[in-house]
Amino acid sequence: MTFASLGLIEPLLRALETLGYQTPTPVQAQAIPAVLAGRDLMAAAQTGTGKTAGFAVPLLQLLTMEGPKVTANSVRALILCPTRELAEQVHASVAQYAEHLPLTTYAVYGGVSINPQMMKLRKGVDILVATPGRLIDLFRQNALKLNQLQTLVLDEADRMLDLGFSEELANIYRMLPKKRQTLLFSATFSDDIRLLAGQMLNDPLSIEVSPRNVAANTVKQWVVPVDKKRKAELFVHLMRKGKWKQMLVFAKTRNGVDALVDKLQGLGINADGIHGDKPQATRQRALDRFKASDVQILVATDVAARGLDIEDLPMVVNFDLPIVAEDYIHRIGRTGRAGNTGEAISLVCADEVNMLSAIEMLTRQTLTRKMEQDFEPEHRVPDTDASGQVVKKPKKPKKPKTSGGGGKRNLGKWVESGEVAAEPSIKPVRKVPVFNTGPRKKK
Ligand code: AMP
Repeated sequence: MTFASLGLIEPLLRALETLGYQTPTPVQAQAIPAVLAGRDLMAAAQTGTGKTAGFAVPLLQLLTMEGPKVTANSVRALILCPTRELAEQVHASVAQYAEHLPLTTYAVYGGVSINPQMMKLRKGVDILVATPGRLIDLFRQNALKLNQLQTLVLDEADRMLDLGFSEELANIYRMLPKKRQTLLFSATFSDDIRLLAGQMLNDPLSIEVSPRNVAANTVKQWVVPVDKKRKAELFVHLMRKGKWKQMLVFAKTRNGVDALVDKLQGLGINADGIHGDKPQATRQRALDRFKASDVQILVATDVAARGLDIEDLPMVVNFDLPIVAEDYIHRIGRTGRAGNTGEAISLVCADEVNMLSAIEMLTRQTLTRKMEQDFEPEHRVPDTDASGQVVKKPKKPKKPKTSGGGGKRNLGKWVESGEVAAEPSIKPVRKVPVFNTGPRKKK
């Protein structure tokens, strides 16, 4: 299959050719004709599958071929993204695809001054990429009108809910014209997302390009059990031993990111960190330097790193496992992209066994464990498998106690299978927006 056979116009074909896209990816092959036909879409596509072009390319074609010129302060298509970095990245791709088209594109997000964004919107913008909070601010300050909107794209919709944007989405929904096309993209499909889709989409076409919730199989994954307090030491040891070059490291909290970056920098290792507390300019600078290979290790929280497309990233390290199992799929999706292979290593302590179990159940695989010599944990990480059960080892016959001996060290107690199976995944509290508007008219 070729892009030309999907009915794309010549300026788009030229742009794709310049980018080296030869054949459509599976999500593109399905999404492009559907979007061109005006359908609503509900697409389950993992990160790295080419989903951005899947929605942006046909959208650009529709905007070029039909509809009136954009008027002052208006937008014709809106792409909502969960994070600032993702908004920047999606916008950069859209701008590349639109290179030979007479369309305007722009990205707005919080953490930077609103005034230049208001100025830019005065003339109107064909495609606006936005994070939900800033979009609402601009709308409330009358810098933005949505009555000309033809298409809404919700990118990484699951993440938007995870990040607590449900109320913002409900507000935005009320600001939109009823007659429009809506495209919803999500790496994973929880019940909350299905509910959201039911409210926002009109007779959508469902696209699923990879088995539901299965992690990218181009990524070699393994787990190193370790005591919590020795994680940083183990990380440095593995890095030096394996001569790891460049890697993205995920830590659970902002403090965790800062502590690890301080430790690494203290050892003279070229590391930087990004998390939600850092100003946008600092985050972007760290990311740009990492992308340019000026930074060897980028330590990040999930919020800061979601959806980033970093070319040829060979390795992702989970310094901490994510609390939400689905985030594991997003994290390891940073590597093994666009046909390359990658490695994803998780440093797991006994406290994290429930998270490990939830990840294995979600990805339907038992992650290989590699014990590192001299780092064997005192607090044993109980065995787990893809069934979500903690596997109980057959009991060894008890040795008769010898008097006076130092005895064995405490190797951690076995967890009974029911303890983990009862709570396979820890989910964050999410509010699902309630939309009480009547049925939408079909476009
Ligand atoms: P995405 O899933 O949209 O973040 O895309 C992942 C990566 O794949 C990006 O670097 C894209 O530039 C690249 N890409 C998208 N579509 C294609 C294609 N048809 N051929 C080659 N690379 C592509």
